[in-house]
Amino acid sequence: MVLAEISGSISRALQQMNNATVIDEKVLNDCLNEISRALLQADVQFSMVRDMQTNIKNIVNFDELAAGHNKRRIIQQAVSNELCKMLDPGKPSFTPKKGKTSVIMFVGLQGSGKTTTCTKYAYYHQKKGWKPALVCADTFRAGAFDQLKQNATKAKIPFYGSYIESDPVKIAGEGVERFKKENCDLIIVDTSGRHKQEAALFEEMRQVAEVTKPDLVIFVMDSSIGQAAFDQAQAFKQSVAVGAVIITKMDGHAKGGGALSAVATTKSPVIFIGTGEHMDEFEVFDVEPFVRRLLGMRDWSGFMDRMHEFVPTNEQTELVQKLSEGTFTFRLMYEQLQPLLKMGPAGQVLSAFGAELMAKGNEKENQVKFKRYMTIMDSMTNAELDSTNPKLMNGSRIICIARGSGRKVEDVMEMIQFYKMFAKIWSNMMKRLKVPKKGSMNA
Ligand code: GDP
Repeated sequence: MVLAEISGSISRALQQMNNATVIDEKVLNDCLNEISRALLQADVQFSMVRDMQTNIKNIVNFDELAAGHNKRRIIQQAVSNELCKMLDPGKPSFTPKKGKTSVIMFVGLQGSGKTTTCTKYAYYHQKKGWKPALVCADTFRAGAFDQLKQNATKAKIPFYGSYIESDPVKIAGEGVERFKKENCDLIIVDTSGRHKQEAALFEEMRQVAEVTKPDLVIFVMDSSIGQAAFDQAQAFKQSVAVGAVIITKMDGHAKGGGALSAVATTKSPVIFIGTGEHMDEFEVFDVEPFVRRLLGMRDWSGFMDRMHEFVPTNEQTELVQKLSEGTFTFRLMYEQLQPLLKMGPAGQVLSAFGAELMAKGNEKENQVKFKRYMTIMDSMTNAELDSTNPKLMNGSRIICIARGSGRKVEDVMEMIQFYKMFAKIWSNMMKRLKVPKKGSMNA
C-alpha cells in the first residue's frame, strides 16, 4: 500500500468514527482495527502496530473519561501522538555545525540511493553556505567513483577517490585527512554497499568508521523495501553506530511503513527524504506535518493554527474574510503571491495543498516567476484586478499590459493561465478546509 493510500485509509477510519453518533468501545476498536490494517499493509512491523493499539486503548479509557470530554478529539490526538512517537525516537541526531568540521558516513545497501543521497546532502548544505566535500570509499561497485565524481563536479563540490586503489579504508582515511586540512566543514564519506547484508560489507563499514571516526553515521534506506526494512535497519545498527536515517525514493510507490520500522529499529530519527533523482529533490523530514498528512488532518483548525502562527494579528481578520468570500480575484492572487515569495502563510498552506503551483524543489525559479507575474499585474487596471474573469482582458488589453510591464505577450498569457490554475486550487482548498460560510466563523 503506498503512502497516499495509507493516508486515505486512516483518515477514512477516523472519519467513520467521527460520523458515529456515540463513541463507545466498539467504535474505537473498529477504528483502531482499520488503522492497524492500513499500517500493516504499509509494512509497519506487527509488534509496533500492536503496541500502538494497546497504548491508545490505555489512553482512551471510557470508564474514566468524564462526561463532556471530547472523545473524538482525544482519540484522534492519541493516534496522532502514537504515530509521532513511532517516528520520533525521542533524541535528536547529531547536528553538524557550520564552520566546524564534521565527518558524516553514509551506509546502506547497493541501490538504496546512497551515492545520490551523499551528493544531495552535500548540495543541500552547500546552498546554505557550508563547505562540504565528498569522499568515495565505495570500491566495490564499478562506476561508483565516476558517479560521485560526475555529481560532485556538477554541483562544484570537491571530491576524493581513486580508480586504482582498491582499499576503501585507505581511501576514506586519506580523503578525510585531506579535506580536514582544507577546512571543509562537512566531510561526507560514501561507503560500499552490497546486494545483501553480508559479513564482508559490515566488516568493511566497521573499518571505515574506525579510521574516519564519523560524527554521524547515516543509514540510507530505499522506501520501497517494505517489511525487509526492519531486518535491514537492525543489521546495520548492530554493525555501526547509526545515528540518523534518510529514506529515499519517496516519490515512487513508496510504502511509508518502512520508515516507521527503520526509526523504531535504529532508534534514530529520519532527517531527510529523497523525492526524486535530481540533486535538489531532497527534503528535510518533519515528523508532525508528515503524521498530520498521513491522518488527513489538513483541516480548518489546522489552517487557523498556521494562520495564527504566520499572519500578523492585524491581517488575520481580513484574510479570514477573504477566504470566506471565496471569490478569487486577480488582486487576491497578487496579495497571495507576496507571502508566497517569503513562504508566508499562503505559501505554507499552498505547499501542502497546491504543490502543482510550484516548480518542485526550485524555490528560486518560483520566486522569479511570481515576481514576474506581479510586475505584469502592476499594469492591469483596477477593474481587471478586482475581477474573477480573465476574459475581461481581450487581445488588445493583453498587448497593452505586456507593453506596460515590459514583458512579452506570452508572459501575460502565462500569468493568466497561472491565475486560472491558482483560482481552481484555491476553490478546492476552501472546500477541503471546510471553510465556514462568511459570518459563521471565529478567527
Ligand atoms: P547506491 O548504490 O546506493 O549508491 O545507489 P545510487 O545512488 O546509485 O542510486 C540508485 C538509483 O536510485 C539511481 O538510479 C538513482 O538515480 C535512484 N535514486 C536515488 N534516490 C532517489 C530518489 O529519491 N527518488 C528516485 N526516484 N530515485 C532515486
